[in-house]
Amino acid sequence: MHKSSNLVKAAWTALGAAFITTLYQAVKSYFPASPLQSHVVTVIYCTIMTFVVGLAVLRRQERELERFSNAKVNFEALMEHLPGLACIVSRDGRLVRWNSRVESVLGYSAQELSKLSAPEALAEDYRSLVRQALAAAFQTGVAEMEAAWLTKDGRRIPCYLTGVRVLVGKQPCVLSIGIDISNRKRAEEKLRQSEAQYRRLLANLPDVTWTMNSSRQVTYVSANVHEMLGYAPQEILAGGRELRLSRIHADDLPAVSESYGALFVEGRIFDVEYRMLHKDGHWIWVRNRALRTFEQDGTLAADGILTDITQRKQAEQVDSQLAAIVMSSSNAIIGNSADGTIASWNPGAERMFGYSADEASGKHISMIVPPERLHEVPSVIGRAVRGERVGRFESVCLRKDGMRVEVDLAISPIIDRQGRVLGISTIASDISLRKRGERELLRAKEEAEAATRAKTQFLANISHELRTPMNGILGMTELALDTHLDAEQREYLLTIQSSGNALLRLISELLDFTRTDSGTLALERVTFDLGEILRQTLRPVLSQAQQVGLEFACDIDPGLPDYVRGDPQRLRQVLVNLMDNAVKFTHQGRVLVRSICRSRTQVLFEVSDTGIGIPAEKHATIFEPFTQNDGSSTRRYGGTGLGLAISARLAELMGGSISLQSEPGVGSTFSFTVPLGLPSEPAHSN
Ligand code: ADP
Repeated sequence: MHKSSNLVKAAWTALGAAFITTLYQAVKSYFPASPLQSHVVTVIYCTIMTFVVGLAVLRRQERELERFSNAKVNFEALMEHLPGLACIVSRDGRLVRWNSRVESVLGYSAQELSKLSAPEALAEDYRSLVRQALAAAFQTGVAEMEAAWLTKDGRRIPCYLTGVRVLVGKQPCVLSIGIDISNRKRAEEKLRQSEAQYRRLLANLPDVTWTMNSSRQVTYVSANVHEMLGYAPQEILAGGRELRLSRIHADDLPAVSESYGALFVEGRIFDVEYRMLHKDGHWIWVRNRALRTFEQDGTLAADGILTDITQRKQAEQVDSQLAAIVMSSSNAIIGNSADGTIASWNPGAERMFGYSADEASGKHISMIVPPERLHEVPSVIGRAVRGERVGRFESVCLRKDGMRVEVDLAISPIIDRQGRVLGISTIASDISLRKRGERELLRAKEEAEAATRAKTQFLANISHELRTPMNGILGMTELALDTHLDAEQREYLLTIQSSGNALLRLISELLDFTRTDSGTLALERVTFDLGEILRQTLRPVLSQAQQVGLEFACDIDPGLPDYVRGDPQRLRQVLVNLMDNAVKFTHQGRVLVRSICRSRTQVLFEVSDTGIGIPAEKHATIFEPFTQNDGSSTRRYGGTGLGLAISARLAELMGGSISLQSEPGVGSTFSFTVPLGLPSEPAHSN
């Protein structure tokens, strides 16, 4: 357009020049004779032509000037409108020209920028790179890079720079355009962070995530598969389908394969629980869930989550075992809510109370409580709800048919892992039979006790009745022995006397044993002179020992209290029995009696001998009634085997005990410990 108007103008100028030339030739031909006139016309013509051509040249120059200034304005407008920060960089790196954004973004004035080199406007770590890029732009014509501007106040602004080689005048320069990419960088950082977070999440997830292609090859599996199955992800990817299938329990494999088929063919959700073999050889339970997806190219794939449910399965197994126990228990096991409403009722409860589970569910537990015990229900429920174990107690419950059933009840709160009370459990066992047995046993015991009492009474009576004539016989025998008798008669009477004494002793022992055995023997509690009792006890035994040629020694602790409280006759009876035995079962050597004051109120009596001794296997039973060392004892030594039994029971009744140390052929030591009270009042008061 501009070009055509110039052509038109040139045509008009040429036309004007031609018109003037034609006019000049016409005028010149009109004035042919006058050279002066012709000269004037020529001068006028030349002047006009000079004016016309000069005007045309002037106009052309004006137009050139106008065009140049337009180009300059356009260039600056272009720079201003370029996106981002635009500048012209000279070969020595100086900034030759820049748009206003350079000043506003970097914060430098025009004067400061004119002294700045292009690399100086960038962060230090990019300066050498930008120098290389500039050199490349000068050499190849273009260059680009990511860098960061450094503003006057020291801020870094990430930027993307492009440079193209341009001619400014005749000077080759680089036009650089930089775009602020802070937002993009921020977005990238955000994306990177969210990706890292996503990865962290996946890694921390206890579940294993996986993807599979249509040929059922695992294409991705999260790293935590190692913890679950013992295999590294790479092993699983490399192991392929064979490895995956070989780890599935043979019993579960058909269900798993079928579900995979349904997933890929019908798009049905895959959700299967099955057993998998851990690399170290133990089985774990997993739940595997997957959805069918499509790859970008449209082929089928699947995304899934594998969860370790071993603990849940184990808990379920325990639960089902517990449920089986509850179902098969003969006890009634009842679950109540916190307000006493029956929530569960096992077959044992059905049998015990006659209500079916359907009938009992939803009813209040008080339906099996007899009216006279109903008032106890709220407090028992209240205690259980507070988390207290009510414990076991015997009670009576009411059956559906109105009959009563004696029960042993255990009531306790049902508490969850967080310690919350979920309800109350009541376990009832039918004790009707046991109770009946106990009652019968009690009756039998009472009857037996009555019979024993009668027997003891009878024995006491009969002993008393036997003792009276025996005393008569012995008294008369003694009188008869004082008369003139021949040797044979004396012999007979002495036999009667010794047999009578033995019989009397047996009667006394039987009576004592019966009394100690039935618990009817009452002890005395009097203050007595311990030394005197010991002397009375030792005297006859001493003469007995001397008669058979035994050494008899006594060692009485001088620390023994003079007066003590207790039963002197029974104390003496025990000591006499032990000493009699020592003399009886010792043929040679000695008998030693020691009394030791163990504490202010504990006295230990020891009777040791160098006699025949008692074998170890008899030690445990020698204190039982009618027990003797061996069968020949009775024949050889006489006796009833009741003395030690009576002594042990008497010692026990007095709060003490008897023990034995003995070795056959070496001797025996019987230790008798007895507590003797100290007199609170003077001895002679008794
Ligand atoms: P008994 O002496 O009337 O037979 P005991 O109850 O006093 O009844 O004694 C039971 C048995 O214990 C004796 O028969 C005897 O075999 C054994 N025995 C008791 N004391 C001694 C002892 N000091 N040395 C050896 N054996 C003894």
